[in-house]
This record gives sequence, structure tokens and C-alpha cells, in this order.
Amino acid sequence: MRPCTTVMHLLLRCMRGCGRHSRNRMPRILRQLVSYIKLIFKSLYFNSLTNSEVVLDCILEPVFWTVEVVTRWFGMVFVFLVVALTSSVVFIAYVCLLPLVLQTYSTGWMMWHICYGNWILVMIVFHYYKATNTPPGYPPKMKNEVPFVSFCKKCVIPKPARSHHCGICKTCILKMDHHCPWLNNCVGHYNHRYFFSFCLFLTLGCMYCSISGRDLFIDAYNSIDEISQPPYTYKDRMFHKSVIYMWVLTSTVSVALGSLTLWHALLITRGETSIERHINNKEAKRLAKRGKVYRNPFSYGKLNNWKVFFGVEKRSHWLTRVLLPSGHTPYGDGLTWDIYPLKKNMMPV
Ligand SMILES: [Zn+2]
Ligand SMILES: [Zn+2]
Repeated sequence: MRPCTTVMHLLLRCMRGCGRHSRNRMPRILRQLVSYIKLIFKSLYFNSLTNSEVVLDCILEPVFWTVEVVTRWFGMVFVFLVVALTSSVVFIAYVCLLPLVLQTYSTGWMMWHICYGNWILVMIVFHYYKATNTPPGYPPKMKNEVPFVSFCKKCVIPKPARSHHCGICKTCILKMDHHCPWLNNCVGHYNHRYFFSFCLFLTLGCMYCSISGRDLFIDAYNSIDEISQPPYTYKDRMFHKSVIYMWVLTSTVSVALGSLTLWHALLITRGETSIERHINNKEAKRLAKRGKVYRNPFSYGKLNNWKVFFGVEKRSHWLTRVLLPSGHTPYGDGLTWDIYPLKKNMMPV
């Protein structure tokens, strides 16, 4: 009995020893393994500058990427839509409405409709062509003396004041306003005026069609129920449908594009671009907390901002450079924005 008891005693001690031994060793190995995995995982994304904004940007990156790719690929489709819709309205105006104007209106009204309608059409076509075909302006890629305010991480070049990177064009743009899918081009320093004039004249053209075609639209709309009845021929039906299509399209565009044009007019009055509006708002709030007032360094006063925007140096320029097609280049090179460009004694307000 005694040897048996001794063996049992030794076995128990051994098992207890092994248990104690493995308890000590295994967790340490596991702990090391887990900490290695953690270290490898953290090394994949660790950045001492990471904050909630960076994390949010990373999460939204696929969304931005999709929007950029879709906008890039559908750029020509949007341009085709603008050309097709505008052409359809012009076609209806010439084929359906012009004969009516020539038959029924007095000579004075007839001249007004022909002159105003064609002037608006010329302005729309000219500014759309220029807005889509004029490069917005790019900062120099080579080493230069231009003062810069920040650095573009994507282009790896210094960014002059008011320049921003466009993810769709994949380059930095001088005085960038926004990337316009309807132009398939960025709106920047060299084509901002063409973009605004296009919006303005297209709104005026749509308002003109909407107001002058209102009575015809009401007649056409009221006759929808009887449109298939004998007094109406195929030509009449097509006329009614064309008038309804034109009125609905031009009225909708008048409201939508009119609001956008008003918004841009407000920005031009303030001497801001769409991007700067957000930056300036943030800056104004930040300074307001400190009891200070923010002043936009690129604003020269309301009227002067418009003069700079349209390149108006003398009174006659309001006619030749604003109300008639003009291909003059904007003030400055879009790189430096030191002084008011028209009169040197007037400093930015
Ligand atoms: Zn860039
Ligand atoms: Zn762009």
C-alpha cells in the first residue's frame, strides 16, 4: 500500500506542476502573439496626425471615388444633354413660334422678339462654348518664385492663394470655384466669367420663353382633352405638345438655374468663390469667438468686385464686355492677389 500511495502522490504533484507550468507559459506566448498581431494591424493605419475628420474622409473615400468616376465618364453625356435640350427649344421657337409672331404681332413687337431672342441665343452659345473650351488655369508644375499658401499632397506642388485640387480633373485649379459636370470642365480663374454669363443668359432665355409662351401653353394645356377630336389635325397636335414641352422645360430651368445664378451673383458681390464661401464662413465663426471680425482679403467692395469679375475698366465695357460676346482675359495671372487690379490706390476692403 505504501509504494502505491507514494506513486499517486508523485503523479499528483507532477500534474499540479505541469498545470502550473503550462498556465505560466501559454498565456505569455498567447499574449505576445496577440500583441504582435495588434502591432502589425496598427502599423497599417497608424498616423500621429489622425483625427475624426481623417477617419471620416477614409470612410467616405469610396463615395468620393464613385462620384468622381461617374462625373468623369458622364461628362460628355451632360454636355450632350445641354446641347440637345437647348437645340430642341430653339427648334420649337423657330419652327412653331416665329411664324406665329410674324403673322400676329405688330412690327415693333416683332422686331423686339427677333432681336431679343437672337441676342440671347448668341450669348448662350458663345458663353457655353467658351466655358467648356477655356482651360480654368493651372498652377506651374516647375520650380518658381510664385508665393504659395499651402502644398497639394496629390500633385506634389505648392498651391498659390485661391487654388484648390480638383479630384475629377486630377490637378490643381487656379481660383477654383467648382467642377461643373454640365460643362465637363472645372470653373476657375480663366473661365469663371464665361460660366456665370452662360448661367445668366440661359436663365434670361428660359424666362423669355416661359413668359412669352405662357398664353400658348394655357391654350395647348386646355385643349389636351379635345386634342384627338376632329378639328385638330396632326400638325395641331404636334404644335400643342411642342409648346407644352417647351414651357415646362424652360419654366423648370428658369427656377433651378435662376436660383443658382442668384447664388453665384451673391458670391461675386462678396468677392468669393463657392469653395471660399465655406472657408470664409468657418474663419468668420472662429474669429467671432475671439471677438474679431473676419474680412475677406480678396474683396474690393461690391461694385468693384463686379468690375474686376467682368473686366470693366470704363463705362462702355458694360456694353462691349458684359452685354456682348467678348473674349478678353481676366485680370491677373490667378497666382498672386495682392492689390486691386484696376486702380493701384484702392486696396482690398
Ligand atoms: Zn493638386
Ligand atoms: Zn475639375
